[in-house]
Amino acid sequence: MLGPVLVSEKEITAQVAALGERITEDYAGRAPLLIGVLKGAFMFMADLARAVALPLEVDFMAISSYGAATKTSGIVRIVKDLDADLTGRHVLIVEDIVDSGLTLSYLRKGLLARGPASLEVCALLVKTGLQRAELDLRYVGFQIPPDFVVGYGLDVAERYRNLPDIRLLEPAPPAAGGASGAS
Ligand code: 5GP
Repeated sequence: MLGPVLVSEKEITAQVAALGERITEDYAGRAPLLIGVLKGAFMFMADLARAVALPLEVDFMAISSYGAATKTSGIVRIVKDLDADLTGRHVLIVEDIVDSGLTLSYLRKGLLARGPASLEVCALLVKTGLQRAELDLRYVGFQIPPDFVVGYGLDVAERYRNLPDIRLLEPAPPAAGGASGAS
């Protein structure tokens, strides 16, 4: 069941613009390669890429995590790998949401092994206090409470990705059953 709005469309728009400006300044004179993690980051990637005034490139990878639907085990399988060669590139991972941080830490290790000139992370949402892995997040959109959220690319059982804002998801009443699954 959809709950209240946690981060509004207006707040997202303003913050994405601010992140874009910072990235534009930090990467001035370089052509960064933005790597979006599908599917959740597709909307953030589209908006962020337009907010960066540099000759950037984009690429995508898709991963699927093992384990229960709404909890991450940190063990991920690459479902779609990158097309780009990362050697010598200034790589910026564009992530929708960091919860335990395990997915990101696994990804970062894998991408670092491919020899980029630099590797940074831009995460739209970071849940407070839950990171089990050592994280170094250069750019963060919003710190949010450790509740399950949907919208702006984020789903539950593939639904709600098209919502323009980030909303809380309230558990369905026990008897009613309910959707599960996330990415
Ligand atoms: P982590 O490995 O940091 O615990 O989990 C990160 C991944 O879990 C995200 O990329 C996302 O796919 C999923 N995830 C974590 N929290 C949420 C949430 O609140 N809503 C949705 N839809 N997915 C989430």
